[in-house]
Amino acid sequence: ASVVNSSGKKKKETRLGISVKKDEDFGNWYSEVCRFGELLEYYEQVKGCYILKPSAMKIWNVIRRFFDAEIEKMDVEEYYFPMFVSRGALEKEKDHIKGFAPEVAWVTRAGESDLETPIALRPTSETVIYPYLSKWIRGHRDLPLKINQWNNVVRWESSDTTPFVRSREFLWQEGHTAFATKEEAEQEVLDVLNIYSRVYEELLAVPVIKGIKSENEKFAGAFETKSIEAFIPSTGRGIQAATSHCLGQNFAQMFDITFEDKKGKRSMVWQNSWGLSTRSIGVMVMTHGDDKGVVFPPKVAPVKVVVIQVPIKGAVDDQVLCDACEAVVSTLHEAGIRAKSDTRDNYSCGWKYADQELKGAPLRIEIGPRDLANDQVRIVRRDTGAKMDVKRGDLIEQVKDLLEKIQRNLYDVAKRKLEECTQKVETWEEFEEALRQKKLILAPWCDEVEVEKDVRKRSGSDETGGGGAKTLCTPLEQPELREDTLCFASGKPAKKWSYWGRSY
Ligand code: AMP
Repeated sequence: ASVVNSSGKKKKETRLGISVKKDEDFGNWYSEVCRFGELLEYYEQVKGCYILKPSAMKIWNVIRRFFDAEIEKMDVEEYYFPMFVSRGALEKEKDHIKGFAPEVAWVTRAGESDLETPIALRPTSETVIYPYLSKWIRGHRDLPLKINQWNNVVRWESSDTTPFVRSREFLWQEGHTAFATKEEAEQEVLDVLNIYSRVYEELLAVPVIKGIKSENEKFAGAFETKSIEAFIPSTGRGIQAATSHCLGQNFAQMFDITFEDKKGKRSMVWQNSWGLSTRSIGVMVMTHGDDKGVVFPPKVAPVKVVVIQVPIKGAVDDQVLCDACEAVVSTLHEAGIRAKSDTRDNYSCGWKYADQELKGAPLRIEIGPRDLANDQVRIVRRDTGAKMDVKRGDLIEQVKDLLEKIQRNLYDVAKRKLEECTQKVETWEEFEEALRQKKLILAPWCDEVEVEKDVRKRSGSDETGGGGAKTLCTPLEQPELREDTLCFASGKPAKKWSYWGRSY
């Protein structure tokens, strides 16, 4: 393509955009959307690490502000603990270390000398924090104790590192709480799960399923893990969107976290831990992005409106159009709507439209000579491409209305797709067929560890290297289970309906 710039010279213009289609080559599509949409850059020095750019950090901060406001209502307090953990502490809870051992990175050297005992980088902070709970908790008046920290963790993931979704270092919040009773702990697990679900559904416009993890899939060392799960229809893979664990008294026992109750008796505390990571940004990109690039839900969009002048040769001076663009941006800012103009005159409007579409702003406003003459602007939606002309006086009202509509539409479309690719099955044959069709599968299950392992083996991997199928979760909302229902995999009596699929 070529473009005439303001000095009248023709200039070669590079073509923008994603080189592959979401439906045809999802892996490369996702990688390009993340990079070209300026969310992130691959960090070439260490595989599986990524540089988060301002767009990604802005979204993360919206999530952070929302989440902080919610947990403040629950009296959770912010702390910061060191990123190093000693071998002794890390290995104290045996199920925990068994689960995490393959992913722990160790510091073995400082300067020229080897450390006497290597120090681990936290893969999660139970073993960093709990020795201090043992010190800080004495009596029932010290409970509940509720800690949250925003930090990085390191998990040396060996395969399939994917931007945001699976990285070797990632950002998250981790909550750690201790209660006198099991009931209080279990209630909090659900309260946090609800907040996580709202982060996904209300902010990121991504529908999720609330459920309980299987014995195989629960957090290493937990009594029970509840999670929210998302599903990516293009790849037919589930993705654990956030987790809220009831740790029971396992860690309390190993770290000696006890309190004196009202009657003077020593008891162990009940503990929870819960985490939401920057994976959430990846799930959002995978869900809403299209062949043109990123599509941001308005509530998290770093820029909600991009304003572009549309010059017609000889009609109106470009500066007049640029001034009109800046005036619209000011009006939007005054109304609290994040907007920016793109009045660069060395790019054609078409190029700038493509650039805005790549980077995901929910709305584009175009201003040309005719719009000026009619005291109007043209508004174009990123999600549907729909265009409308709006009187300048109605601008704020219309923009606000459209942003709400886009937020709702993105969620509705994603929800519909999720429903369309969910399939209930009752037999192994139906299961295999549904898996081939990349469905999210709801199946009756006997809830036996060995059966889940067997399903994973029998279902094999798919053409994109997705591993065998496993349970994603047992939904809290259970369909009715007839008494004579059998497990789809083992033929034994079924105990529950669970979601199955390949996963990230
Ligand atoms: P966990 O402590 O394992 O329960 O992890 C808490 C949440 O962090 C999970 O539910 C995932 O959504 C997310 N997560 C786990 N591993 C990674 C990773 N390697 N990269 C990004 N996010 C992750």
